Amino acid sequence: MPEPSHPPHAEPPGSDDAPGRRVPARSGAPGLRGLAADIGGSFIKFAPVGLDGALGEASRVSTPSTDWDGFCRALHSLCAPFAEDLALSLSIAGIVDAETGVALSANVSCTSGRRLAASLEEALGRRVLVANDADCFALAEARGRGAARGVVFGIILGSGVGGGLVLDGRIVEGAGGIAGEWGHGPILGPIRLGGRDLGPLPCGCGQIGCLDTLGSARGLERIDRHLHGEGRTSPVIVEHWRAGEASAARAVEAWSDIMSGPLAVLVNATGAVLVPVGGGLSNSAPLIAHLDAAVRRRLLRRTAGPLVVPARLGEAAGLLGAAIRLEAFGAGSLPPADREPPP
Ligand SMILES: [Zn+2]
Repeated sequence: MPEPSHPPHAEPPGSDDAPGRRVPARSGAPGLRGLAADIGGSFIKFAPVGLDGALGEASRVSTPSTDWDGFCRALHSLCAPFAEDLALSLSIAGIVDAETGVALSANVSCTSGRRLAASLEEALGRRVLVANDADCFALAEARGRGAARGVVFGIILGSGVGGGLVLDGRIVEGAGGIAGEWGHGPILGPIRLGGRDLGPLPCGCGQIGCLDTLGSARGLERIDRHLHGEGRTSPVIVEHWRAGEASAARAVEAWSDIMSGPLAVLVNATGAVLVPVGGGLSNSAPLIAHLDAAVRRRLLRRTAGPLVVPARLGEAAGLLGAAIRLEAFGAGSLPPADREPPP
């Protein structure tokens, strides 16, 4: 096990004493359910989780994204003040194969190719759960909205298009851990916009014509650039659309048209009762309402209220989703590694 080192930018809770097997005296908490961490390409967010599921005091350190030993040391420093029988539940920007436990992450590349939960259990000396960040987002949003039953499809419209599928309050990982990844697949042909064809564009996944290339925040910017030749950012495009500017309206209409068809298919196919949206584009409630209206015009089912809605939980969703996954565990009675929580 690596020796704990000081995290780069934050002091972990209770780190005033030597690390040891104890519940942090400083927190004064009567008991903890476990520990949660949200691993992004830039930062690790961490918090203890109370028996009631509430997050304790959160801390944040830089992610040693390309350095496995440094990555383990950072997590060790965060976890060390807490009793070893408390499990650590991770939300990570990457895919974890449910059968093999092997991770694939472009943003936290030191985890790629590793059986992540098992490797971290060895390094940290405690039970570790791992889930995709979009899955954790969808789980937290489903719970936060009281959608404990039925299908919730959480989508991310940020630098890319991602998503997570939740059924009856539990993540559906699917074969290979990719359930919910609706942004990839060669579905877009050339699109006639402004008298010229746009795409189909090559995608980072290796295919051509993925929704990811035009449906994300970067996609909206590509559409705007194709139509008007300007290098406007997505917040500026949305702001100008809201102000009634014709060129921004053309870009937003084209984006909404491209996105609403595949999203309607997704809702039809899954029977989703709710589609919470996270990522940069979800910061504009009017934009998401516009997309919702376009999707609902294309659904087989008629819905009275909004279906595609902005996320409520903001940046805490990953941590909250990871915290929810600890529900199945009681301290000191942890199941063997690499098993999913019991239902
Ligand atoms: Zn792709």
